[in-house]
Amino acid sequence: MSQVFIDIRTLSFVLMVVTGLMAGVMGIIWRTQKTYPGVGFWALSNLSAAFGFLFIGLRGVAPDLVTVLLGNFLAIGTMALAYGGNRSFVGLEDDHRTSFLVMAVTMAGIFAFTYIYPDILPRIFIASAATFIFSMLSFRVFLSAPKQRRTIVYTLVGYSHLVFALLMIVRTAATFSYSRLDQFFQPAWIQAIFFMVFIVFAIIWTFNYVVLNNERLHIDLRTAEAELLKLATTDHLTGIANTRAFFDAAETEIKRSRRHKIPLSLVLLDIDHFKRINDTHGHAAGDRVLRECSRLFSEITRQNDALGRIGGEEFAILLTHTDLARGRAVAESFRKAVEEMRIELGEEQLRLTASFGVAAFRPSDTLESFLQRADKNLYRAKELGRNRVATDAGEERLRLIS
Ligand code: GH3
Ligand code: MG
Ligand code: MG
Repeated sequence: MSQVFIDIRTLSFVLMVVTGLMAGVMGIIWRTQKTYPGVGFWALSNLSAAFGFLFIGLRGVAPDLVTVLLGNFLAIGTMALAYGGNRSFVGLEDDHRTSFLVMAVTMAGIFAFTYIYPDILPRIFIASAATFIFSMLSFRVFLSAPKQRRTIVYTLVGYSHLVFALLMIVRTAATFSYSRLDQFFQPAWIQAIFFMVFIVFAIIWTFNYVVLNNERLHIDLRTAEAELLKLATTDHLTGIANTRAFFDAAETEIKRSRRHKIPLSLVLLDIDHFKRINDTHGHAAGDRVLRECSRLFSEITRQNDALGRIGGEEFAILLTHTDLARGRAVAESFRKAVEEMRIELGEEQLRLTASFGVAAFRPSDTLESFLQRADKNLYRAKELGRNRVATDAGEERLRLIS
């Protein structure tokens, strides 16, 4: 049975074609997509495999220098490049020293068992040992990746390296035991099986590379989307919701209120004589005051209520499950909180007041009419002398009096 069911030369060429195609796939991804550090190494790793197997397949046709030395150099270089790529991709520092050391010892051994004591068995052992080492190193890379980046894909990819490393032990053990037990079975028999294992892993790893890169792209895209959404909905000065985000939230709440008949109140507030703060202390101090106010309002606003900055020094709070009487009480508590707040400006302690307009939602309201009513009340609070709360109820009372 010296002739195997598929001979090694054929398998080498099949491997060359498969890894060549995989190199092409990685090369295209590398050049045409957004990729991360390491992907270039992976593409080169596949290319190195393709040439390695081309040379190994030329055994007996080309000189040993090319087929054995260069072939093994490229085949093991494949593992070294993959390891380098894995480290860069995961974000670890490069470890070229280990790679060079393993490569140098391996090549010295292969050289010795080609020219000094020509014997294929120790060569297979040495090549398997080097492959085992690089696979184990890659296994460790994926399992020791920074926690926030480690996904289930990392773990699976890590274990694919462990499985490959273990297969290398089986390969060595099988090669040695078979050849010792019965010379009739050539190591080529086992070699053939392991060449098929290589084909499978060449495909698995390229698949891994693509999935790893895409997963990372996907995560980055989601993060960017979240950041954009935050930018588009946040007031840059104070960090609370901007007008647009507040109005969006208000639209949703209004619909809910109308459908489920839940009381809903809107509080608009405007800082009194804010212009004076700017004029006396400068615009930066004015900004500081706006930030302090936002912080105070955020602290005292309930979790489910929406708070937004809807103008220069104008804020809005939407109170769910809140009728007019309760809305007025909440506005009153905000008014007191503003009045009691002290802002340190150098030597000085700044005190503020604010005026409030409150409106309760009516089923006939649109967001616009709802806002208009609250705004009208706010205007009245200003007219009545500032630092006070005006509501629809107040308006009705006024109407009754006149
Ligand atoms: P009132 O009591 O009637 O509300 O008087 P006011 O001075 O607060 O009102 P007015 O609308 O006349 O002035 C608001 C000022 O707010 C004018 C504008 O320069 C200032 N302002 C608007 N946006 C900002 C901002 O982002 N930072 C700072 N520092 N000032 C701002
Ligand atoms: Mg004002
Ligand atoms: Mg104003």
